[in-house]
Parts: sequence; C-alpha cells; structure tokens
Amino acid sequence: MKTKTYDLIIVGGGVIGLMGAYFAAKKGKQVLLLEAEASIRHASVRNFGSIIPSGQAMGFFRNLGERSLDWYRLFSENYGLPIDQSGTYFTAQSPSEFQLLEEKHAQDKAAGFQSQLLSSKQLTKDQPNIQAQTLGGLYYPNEMSLDSQTFLAGFLDVLSHSSHASCRFNQQVVSLESGNPHYIVTTHTQETYQAEQVLCCTGHFIPDFIRPMVEKEPVSVCKLQMLRTKPLPMRIKGNLLSGLSARRYAGFSQCPSFYKQAKTYEQAELDKHGIHLLFKQHSTGEITLGDSHTYYAIDGTESLDFHMDVEINQMMLNYANKVVDIACDEIGKLWLGWYLEHDKGLLAKSQNEGLHVITAISGKGMTIGPALMEKTIDKIFDSAFLEFDL
Ligand SMILES: Cc1cc2nc3c(=O)[nH]c(=O)nc-3n(C[C@H](O)[C@H](O)[C@H](O)COP(=O)(O)OP(=O)(O)OC[C@H]3O[C@@H](n4cnc5c(N)ncnc54)[C@H](O)[C@@H]3O)c2cc1C
Repeated sequence: MKTKTYDLIIVGGGVIGLMGAYFAAKKGKQVLLLEAEASIRHASVRNFGSIIPSGQAMGFFRNLGERSLDWYRLFSENYGLPIDQSGTYFTAQSPSEFQLLEEKHAQDKAAGFQSQLLSSKQLTKDQPNIQAQTLGGLYYPNEMSLDSQTFLAGFLDVLSHSSHASCRFNQQVVSLESGNPHYIVTTHTQETYQAEQVLCCTGHFIPDFIRPMVEKEPVSVCKLQMLRTKPLPMRIKGNLLSGLSARRYAGFSQCPSFYKQAKTYEQAELDKHGIHLLFKQHSTGEITLGDSHTYYAIDGTESLDFHMDVEINQMMLNYANKVVDIACDEIGKLWLGWYLEHDKGLLAKSQNEGLHVITAISGKGMTIGPALMEKTIDKIFDSAFLEFDL
C-alpha cells in the first residue's frame, strides 16, 4: 500500500505545534501533528494563560501579541472556546514603579496602543483587594487570559474536526531522515510517516535530530516555580501584575527610567531568583501566582535541577501579600515549568529546504503563539525557509 505523504509534519503538540497545525490546515495543506505525550502536559498547560502583548518589546513581538488577541477573539466566537477579556493591570508599589507606568502609558499612546493610567482610587474600584498603599496602575482593557488546559483541549477538538489536520498523541519522534524526495519521520513505536516539510515545535526538549540546529545558538533552559491557592472568596480581575513585572518585562525596557529603578534589599533578593508576581484567579476561585526564573546551560555541563525550592515559594507568598490583601497561605497546588530562552527572543530557523525549528519563545508563547504560527506557516509554504528579522 502506498504511504500517504503529508504536506507538513509537525513534531510537538504544545500551543506552538497546535497553532501551526491550525494555520497549515486553514491554508488547505494536509498536516500531521505528532506528540510524544498522551496529552498536552508541558509549558503550554503549566502557564498562567495570560495574553499580555503590552509586556512584549515594541515592534515584532508586540505586534504579534496584538494580532494574536484578534485570533483568540475569533477562536472564542467561532468555536466557543472560553477566554476572559477583562484586561491586564500593572500596579506600582513604589513611586519609581509608578513613574515607569507613566512613561509606558505615554509610549503606548504615541504608538497608538490603548492603555489607561489609573490612580490608586480608580485601581481599587476594579481591584478591591489591592493593598491600600498601592500607588496606582496601568490598565490594558483589550488584553485577556484563558485557562490553558481548557482552551487547548477545546482547540485540539476543533482540529480533530478538520479534514486537513490529524493529531496523534503517544507518538514520540525518534528519527528524521531526509529521504529523496521526502522526509521520513519515525516514532518510538517504529511507525513511519512522510512529508514534504517538517516543523519541529518541541519546546524545551532538544531531540537529537534538531540538536545541531540548536546547540550553537545563545539558548538556555529556564525553570519556573508556580503555585495555586485553594479557592478564595475575594476577586482578582484579569491579569494582575506587581511593579516587579514591569521592571522585568521587555515591553517596559524602552522607558527612560527602566534601568534606573532602585532596588530595596527585598527586591534584590527576589531578583536573584528572577521573581516577579503575576496573579490570575480562576472562575473556581483559586489564584495562580508566580513565578521565579532559574537558568541553565543546554550543553549538558550543568545538570538540570528538578527540585522545587521551598524558600522561593515563601518569598513569592510574602511578596504576594504586599500586593494584594490575601491570606494565600493555603496552597492547593505547586508545580514547575520549563522553557527555552534565546537572546533574541526566539529561535526560528531552517536546515536545508523543508526542515524547520521554532522554539525558545520563553514566557510569551501563549501571548504571541497564534500570530507567530500564522506567519511561520506562510513563510514555510511560500519559501520553504524559516527566518525572521529579529
Ligand atoms: C510556568 C510558566 C508560565 C508561563 N506563563 C505564560 C503566560 O502567562 N503567557 C504566555 O504568553 N506565556 C507563558 N509561558 C510561556 C509559554 O507557556 C510557552 O512559551 C509555550 O507554552 C511554549 O509552547 P511550545 O509549544 O513551544 O512548548 P511546549 O508546550 O513545551 O510543547 C512542546 C511539546 O513538544 C513535545 N515533544 C518534544 N519532543 C518531542 C518528540 N521527539 N516527538 C514528539 N513530541 C515531542 C513535548 O512533549 C511537548 O508537548 C509560561 C511558561 C511557563 C513554563
């Protein structure tokens, strides 16, 4: 029997792979997605599900984030996938952080992006549990959040109804050969598939068949700690971020006072672990909060530490109580997440015609995923070559 040849095989079924499959199918291509796990279980479902274009560097990444907001709205309207459109609130716990928010507001205004500077009184109206000493906030009404697990499960279901896309789980790709004229992909169960092009979206995993494309790049692995409280009666609206987040996000880096922010002893300690604080409350009342960032080399010289650091959790909880008035000592869940980070914010490249890698999207994969993969799919089908001017 003749083996079916796909237009595209996608390796990896996180948000990046799934979005890739969607846009390839939308283009009328026959696409096969192969995922190693039995379900979606890595970075794409360990995150906050916060879609925050304002946190991205102005230009390429911000624009992708803004375009992704349109895609998420469309997915929600067309397929009934749940999204929470209550926006993003950056808050300021010190005068210099408030200055940063003012500068960012002016920058957004000049660039035509919508944001609202809020006095402490205005902020308290929307966020009644914010600590009284908070100096104000910057509100992005168009931004959103979603429950990644629910959203991506629904998105997978949408793909399963497409006559152009097929997604197979429990299929770890172990080798990839450039046969003539097609790529032959073999999985751990010795099944083989063939395609004209292969797109690897393997997150922080670096399988041998893409290692030569990744290992010489300025890439590191980041480990993040997250926690979720038990259900709480208070309400946090949308994405709520502390002043530490504004100090950390690339979207604020062009503000004049970004590099001049003084640090208290406590902030310097939090900085050592890359801690900033984002809060997201679920419809069931639990609050997800995090996160911390610890970096490791990918070359195997440092072994990847898999421990959860109790002190980091305690530091996050202590700071959380300075931002919002919550007794979030009752922790329901703790977990780790990993992603790859590239000095330029993304690794997107091709080796030969038809073999592509897209990874190292760091902490913005949910935010830019749809628009990034719309562009990626256009590029690989228009030129069989993947490269962005970053
Ligand atoms: C704790 C945390 C919080 C975050 N918060 C946010 C946020 O609020 N907003 C935001 O925009 N971003 C956030 N991010 C970042 C975002 O989650 C990632 O950028 C995004 O999920 C990356 O998606 P991915 O598809 O590249 O990777 P992954 O989700 O890791 O998916 C890669 C998939 O490839 C599969 N795979 C690997 N090797 C093979 C193989 N050989 N064969 C088959 N399959 C394979 C893996 O099993 C995995 O399922 C956060 C990340 C973390 C860890």
